[in-house]
Amino acid sequence: MAHLIDGKKLSAQVLQEVASEVKMLRAEHDIVPTLAVVLVGEDPASQVYVRNKVNRAEEAGVCSISHHLDAECTQDVLNKLIDDLNNDPQVHGILVQLPLPSHLNEEEVIAAIHPLKDVDGFHPLNVGALASGRPSLVPCTPQGCMIMLHQVHPDMSGKNAVIVGRSNIVGKPMAALLLQENCTVTIVHSRTKNIESLCRNADIVVAAVGRAKLINADWIRPGATVIDVGINAIDVDGKRKLTGDVDFESVAPIAGAITPVPGGVGPMTIACLLLNTTRAAKRQSDKT
Ligand code: NAD
Repeated sequence: MAHLIDGKKLSAQVLQEVASEVKMLRAEHDIVPTLAVVLVGEDPASQVYVRNKVNRAEEAGVCSISHHLDAECTQDVLNKLIDDLNNDPQVHGILVQLPLPSHLNEEEVIAAIHPLKDVDGFHPLNVGALASGRPSLVPCTPQGCMIMLHQVHPDMSGKNAVIVGRSNIVGKPMAALLLQENCTVTIVHSRTKNIESLCRNADIVVAAVGRAKLINADWIRPGATVIDVGINAIDVDGKRKLTGDVDFESVAPIAGAITPVPGGVGPMTIACLLLNTTRAAKRQSDKT
């Protein structure tokens, strides 16, 4: 049976590190790392994500300020809020919960966030910095995946890594991070041919698709490490249950290591958001 990479336990360790950094910043420099969270509309999943982020921030001593705009809010109103937050010296990180209602332009909003406050790491300048291997605010989910991978592979040099999914928030930044670790990286996606055999050749498989249980044991080489980013709600006996992109029951007996869903990548993402907020606070105050 595969080694279980426990995201709950690992994220608690990361949050503890954040908490001691925050304590030091407060005590020695009178800085309180502060995260502004912007939610537009009433999407129930987004509300849950925001609540989780705010709760974890509180636990780590990071100050969080929530801004809830109604679903009909205009681009100008949202842009003005971002501008105010950019200019507020008390705010170190800005997170706009995505997706936004369809009448709002996400790219415009992301580009409006000051790169130093872009704790999601989605601003084009941070994307470019990551692609060219310079220090930046790195997207939280791939950053969390790398912390998990380091638990099993302290040295990833020369490993074959396959990422399933090419989104801007997971697949592409994940590829950049694995390349930095000297992996041989392949991204496969909805148009890829022979996707199963490409995955079967991998030492590391990262699944970020959004299709419940797409990846089964036939896709995985015995002993490979499997990171499951997917979060899919499925119906089991009339009850709503969260499941990953990986068919855990069939893959766990043959993989070398695997992350569960829930309790895997999800908690790591939030921990890395707070890590980024603390880093942003230090950088903005020249305390790096
Ligand atoms: P996305 O929809 O932006 O991208 C999905 C990618 O999967 C696309 O690149 C597409 O080409 C590829 N794809 C679709 N069908 C495929 C198929 N049959 N075979 C191979 N590739 C296929 O999704 P995303 O934002 O990257 O999110 C992916 C999943 O990860 C979702 O379930 C999402 O909820 C989850 N997610 C989890 C976290 C977390 O913190 N755990 C964070 C972000 C996203």
